[in-house]
Amino acid sequence: MKAHPDLVAHGAQFERRIVPLSPGIWTAVGFAASNAHMVEGADSVTIIDTTESTAAAENILAEFRALTGKPVGRIIYTHGHRDHVSGASVFAGGADVPVIASAGFGSDLVDVDQSRVAPNAALARRTRAQFGIGLSGDERVSLGCGPGNRPMKGLGEGYLEPTERVADDRPIDLDGVEARLIMAPGETPDHMAVWFPGVRVLVPGDNWYHAFPNLYAIRGTAYRDFAAWADTLTMLAGLGAEAMAPGHTMPVFGGERVREALETTRDAIRFVMRETADGMDREVPIDDIVAGLELPARLAEKPWLGEYYGKAAWAARAYAAGTLGWYDGNPTNLGTLSTRARALRMAELAGGADALMRAARLTPDPQWRLELCDHLIALGEPAGELKADTMTELAELEINATARNAYLWEAKRLRSGDSG
Ligand SMILES: [Zn+2]
Repeated sequence: MKAHPDLVAHGAQFERRIVPLSPGIWTAVGFAASNAHMVEGADSVTIIDTTESTAAAENILAEFRALTGKPVGRIIYTHGHRDHVSGASVFAGGADVPVIASAGFGSDLVDVDQSRVAPNAALARRTRAQFGIGLSGDERVSLGCGPGNRPMKGLGEGYLEPTERVADDRPIDLDGVEARLIMAPGETPDHMAVWFPGVRVLVPGDNWYHAFPNLYAIRGTAYRDFAAWADTLTMLAGLGAEAMAPGHTMPVFGGERVREALETTRDAIRFVMRETADGMDREVPIDDIVAGLELPARLAEKPWLGEYYGKAAWAARAYAAGTLGWYDGNPTNLGTLSTRARALRMAELAGGADALMRAARLTPDPQWRLELCDHLIALGEPAGELKADTMTELAELEINATARNAYLWEAKRLRSGDSG
């Protein structure tokens, strides 16, 4: 099936490889949705992040073992997202190794407590859609942040609880290798970066990767603190790293390049904040803020700001909702029409449901066709196939991997008549 050529090209960096960052520090890229890093000390190694599955961790450990046979002495988590903590048991190999994380360590995925009221089923379903779980390899060409095609065995199964929680920045001796743990709230509040001042290597976690930052993940995330993330990028840029190994995608080399990558990503976050806040101040409806939102050329041209993973438009919506909540200031929106009530009136205006169906089939605008299909589906009209075809059409044009996956996943579900 067709895919956007830029999205396919972006995936070239997910070829499996072990990338040396400096003598004794390596990153494993392409084995899983996320990367794992190894630091060789005098008699042991440190593993920073452990990927999403035991199968991926086993593959990486085999590669690391070819570099050194020294045992794993400790594991560090940059943050609590499941795709970074789920291969830990493989690296620990049954030994009682310390697992170090920030004091705020926690995760919307790791800490799901089924006994508490929360939309857990929605989160699970939307996570499958975002990552295209259940799509074929041909359909899921990329995750945007990692390879679409990777082993899924032991997904989420190798998590180990942190044994040490670090509250403030502090130096740490990794068996003779000098490092510093730095609190780095950004993509999540619990982020902790690892900085090697001696060799000027930075492990920033997911605060940077080779794609527009996922300021809002469509699987469903609470507000990510845009301002804190931007400030953290300034702080990380100030370290003066010569190499940077992110939690996803290929490392970046060269002091100037690392600084540029961090600072322009910060500028992109602040651009979205400013444009959205200005629009809200001027009473511009959020749909119109989003429709007119375009990164300035000096940012849009950066290869790492391509919208393969996050999307500026979704970030703007998240910023609006995260700052002032769902109400947009227009009293029309204080009231509600149910989807069916609205659909009935739309059909009436169109001259009946058949006329609405005709309009949906005839419009060349796929977004409008989807909106008309939703009205028809709310009325119980057979528009599911048309909606599925339209989502497939959009998926093939989409540069954003999570949108592509969600379109295709929902199209498949609609065609199968599956409700969950
Ligand atoms: Zn991640």
